[in-house]
Amino acid sequence: MDRRQFLVRSSMATAATLLPFNKLFAFKAGTFTDLRRNVGYFTDRGGTIGWLVADDGFVVIDSQYPQTAKGCLEGLQDKTSQALDMLINTHHHGDHTGGNSVFQPVAKTIVAHENVPALMKKANEESESDTELAYPTTTYEDSWEADMGSETVHAKYYGNAHTSGDSVIYFENANVVHMGDLVFNRMNPYTDRPAGASIHNWIKVLAEVEEEYPADAIYIFGHGKPEFGVTGDKSDVAVMRSYLSAMVEHVEQGVEAGMSKEEIIDLEALEGFDNFQYADWWTLSQNLDVVYQEVMER
Ligand SMILES: [Zn+2]
Repeated sequence: MDRRQFLVRSSMATAATLLPFNKLFAFKAGTFTDLRRNVGYFTDRGGTIGWLVADDGFVVIDSQYPQTAKGCLEGLQDKTSQALDMLINTHHHGDHTGGNSVFQPVAKTIVAHENVPALMKKANEESESDTELAYPTTTYEDSWEADMGSETVHAKYYGNAHTSGDSVIYFENANVVHMGDLVFNRMNPYTDRPAGASIHNWIKVLAEVEEEYPADAIYIFGHGKPEFGVTGDKSDVAVMRSYLSAMVEHVEQGVEAGMSKEEIIDLEALEGFDNFQYADWWTLSQNLDVVYQEVMER
């Protein structure tokens, strides 16, 4: 911790002991929400950060951006004086790994699917970003787990979906699943085809996830429309899967009817899925374009 960070931390700690407004300060540095059995999530800017802060385990999932990662780490260090056992990246995108360098000095290891380091490197070169990268140091092919005493944390790869390196992270005893960007809650997803995304396979991945975890599991989503939030249950995962399936159905019908690509992808909303457009985020048309390319390849 450098001197400036130390001063910020001490002044925050002092203020917190003097005033009963912990929430206010927490809000200023992003928002921490408890879910179940020492597992919760943090939102500020970028992909939702998941965390476990227990007496025998300290885990962070995803790191947003350097600035917001600082706020997250400081808030978590107010909850525990333990060393960070691990940072896990759900995938390589900059809004999930940009803050890795903030956690790296205090993290024993950074865990991700084996495709993540190369995807991070490529994305960084293409974007010419000046963000300091900190790469995963522990990678796995199909699945990985760590026993933390009172909690067991699992990472599992289900195949190409949002990218070609998406992990689903499961806190087994808390029964909380972090989906990374495999679920955009009630909004158009970003589909990174150059990084190996496949909407056809994404549907299968979500179906498998719905089968695999207990019915009462709590899910954390990488992103969500504000009115729906970034957590939910199995039924919210199913909405995402149905939305992707509706995209495929729409494109297949269009192709069968002899419509042009332009005609097929020129659509603002699919029937039954109104209001999935969020700000200037990725559009339905951009996703239909990806589906169209996939259908043409088949
Ligand atoms: Zn992403």
